[in-house]
Amino acid sequence: MWLLLIEDETRLATFLKMGLEEEGYIVDIAGDGAEGEAMALANAYDALIIDWRLPQQDGKTVVEHVRAAGREVPILMLTALGDVEHRVAGLDAGADDYMPKPFKFEELLARLRALLRRPPLTMQEDVFQVGALELDTKRRQAALGGTRLDLRTKEYALLEDFARHPNEVVSRTVIAERVWGDAFYVTDNVIDVTISGLRQKLVGAQSASPAPQAVRIETVRGVGYRLATE
Ligand code: CA
Repeated sequence: MWLLLIEDETRLATFLKMGLEEEGYIVDIAGDGAEGEAMALANAYDALIIDWRLPQQDGKTVVEHVRAAGREVPILMLTALGDVEHRVAGLDAGADDYMPKPFKFEELLARLRALLRRPPLTMQEDVFQVGALELDTKRRQAALGGTRLDLRTKEYALLEDFARHPNEVVSRTVIAERVWGDAFYVTDNVIDVTISGLRQKLVGAQSASPAPQAVRIETVRGVGYRLATE
């Protein structure tokens, strides 16, 4: 696996490169946005890790240019802690996932493995399927085993986020940021209530189905939730 890391903080870049190489990745480093973009477009990397704040050209612009060039490479963005709007803007620009700084190296590895496993978002159609679950991202509708789910706005957003990260444990903080765009003002209670509503609808659709398929939201105690599809 060949990675490009676009990061101007030399110490962090060197640390990440060493760690990733110990894990068997081959890592190129670019120290600014312009150089990074040129390298990303010139080479067939398996994934890009792009810092938001970069000299010459910011990370979001690099992502936009890479996507505009038709590249479907998985992209992980690094954002500063608290820059919630950056995270949303990064995903809108075409990044597949983000990591708030500071992060644990193991967490970066886990995100990277997940990104390399799943097809990049840009390759996905408006309608995509995860197990027995079908989502129409344009109409914001979902069906399970052919049974249409009657979802509230946030229930749909939550389900789509789960479906984009199937079988991965997602913390409440990450859910708050990705689904509500805000980790600070969304209470755990709001998240739990939304999950509970979505869970009931999934169970309801499956009990109505003649051939029930195992799609369920599991609680991982002390960590968060995961959409189990297998
Ligand atoms: Ca930076």
